[in-house]
Amino acid sequence: MYLTQGLHRALQCTPEAPATIYGDRTRTFREHIDRIARLAAGLHSLGVTSGDRVAMLSLNSDRYAEYLLAIPWSDAVLNPVNIRWSPAEIAYSINDSGTKVLIVDDAFAAAVPALRGACPNLTTIVYAGENDASEGAVLYEELIATHDPVEDARRSGEQLAGIFYTGGTTGFPKGVMLSHTNMVTSAAGTVATGELLSGAARFLHAAPMFHLADLAAWAGQVMLGGPHIIVPFFEPVAVLEAIEQHRPTDVLLVPTMLQLLVDHPSVSEYDLSAMQRILYGGSPIGEGLANRVLTMFPGVRMTQAYGMTEVAPVASLLLPDDHEGATLRSGGQAAPHSELRIVDIDGNPVPTGTVGEICVRGGHVMQGYWNKPAETAAVLRDGWYHTGDGGYLDENGFVYVVDRLKDMIVTGGENVYSAEVESALSKHPAVAQSAVIGLPSETWGETVHAVVILAAGAEVSAEELQAFCKEHIAGYKTPRSVEFVAAIPMSGAGKILKRELREAQAERS
Ligand code: ATP
Ligand code: MG
Repeated sequence: MYLTQGLHRALQCTPEAPATIYGDRTRTFREHIDRIARLAAGLHSLGVTSGDRVAMLSLNSDRYAEYLLAIPWSDAVLNPVNIRWSPAEIAYSINDSGTKVLIVDDAFAAAVPALRGACPNLTTIVYAGENDASEGAVLYEELIATHDPVEDARRSGEQLAGIFYTGGTTGFPKGVMLSHTNMVTSAAGTVATGELLSGAARFLHAAPMFHLADLAAWAGQVMLGGPHIIVPFFEPVAVLEAIEQHRPTDVLLVPTMLQLLVDHPSVSEYDLSAMQRILYGGSPIGEGLANRVLTMFPGVRMTQAYGMTEVAPVASLLLPDDHEGATLRSGGQAAPHSELRIVDIDGNPVPTGTVGEICVRGGHVMQGYWNKPAETAAVLRDGWYHTGDGGYLDENGFVYVVDRLKDMIVTGGENVYSAEVESALSKHPAVAQSAVIGLPSETWGETVHAVVILAAGAEVSAEELQAFCKEHIAGYKTPRSVEFVAAIPMSGAGKILKRELREAQAERS
């Protein structure tokens, strides 16, 4: 299968059904597909040919749903830019991928002059905003209005659909090459559980559409021919209003967004009864939040996905009926399209319950990292993708993610998972945020070091925190040293950059 395939079926069977709903603008499949086919012709007129990369730097909109399909329709390759990146990271992804054409909207038009300076190969800017164009840009609406529809390139499933950059948590972002089959496999496998986009689903894009998590659900909805309800970015009131007004049945959110929604003071004033299924990912959620979600969305079915950019992105799923007891802390079981196993440092499978590296196999595993053959060979071995995540499987095949392997600390021969120490620290009321890293030690190999941001107005000593940790975790896991700071470096995706903390420590010693 290929990404644009569902469009042909929708045009044949339900041309007048809504395809995109954005604010008060609704477009039918006939209109949506006509605009995609004209935009693809417009891209050709700009010199875009087979395999060229086309990037987009844009908030969510009904146009985003068009870029995502016009680019493959024109036989080009998607490069959705992370909108939370710094200008340097954006320029890096454009230069690294060799992108020549960039689509921008109003929110990012101001970044264009700097990008032109930093990206010598970027020849064309397509301006898809509502206001005046930035200087020298091609107008998106004009491209659509002045070109006749072109035939879909109808690419084979094995061809490259896009280059998707990783979060950049453990190193510089890497360009993940995903084929059409990779993307459709992850989407179709998740839909096959019956817990995403079942029946006459209406999908709400509340999370950023550049991100693969939302894109997997998007690809599923394109395949099924259902409507995409789109809000420009996550903002609790806009999301609550969209749910009441447009009655979506499905949404993808990260736990922080879920928390912001259910904590919103006016949440109970909205009619949220249309929502049937919530997919979340990036981390497990606590019992408290899970229960709050069920109170606010009565009868909703919640599914957690564990995965990463390299597997487009779903590796395992914690299905609604498993949202209880100890399994709530797990990443669920292998998704229908996915196999999981845990291996030791030599790549040999380990027994049930033993921590090792989580590996994933299936039709969703990436083709490799763009222009990085050595990094690709290091993680794709014997058909298995080595995730760099440490974890274990229980006897029922539930996977528990314990830590990034790079963040695991070995002290006096014992493994310490930084995530477990952070979870103990987070139970102390004075701790707003913490990051736990290993410091090199001649005696112990490494020692456990905690970097802590205190809650506003709170006071606590390092000794008090250490004593508190000892009540919750073993002595060897308790931080040997504690440092109080005002800020902890974070990635664009809101993940702690421990490599930067380690580098700062190394510079100081
Ligand atoms: P980089 O690869 O550049 O360091 P990244 O790994 O943060 O960045 P992503 O592909 O966006 O980039 O994130 C995938 C990672 O997020 C996984 O490898 C895992 O560590 C974490 N993750 C994702 N989902 C879950 C989940 N449900 N539970 C626990 N961890 C998760
Ligand atoms: Mg990663």
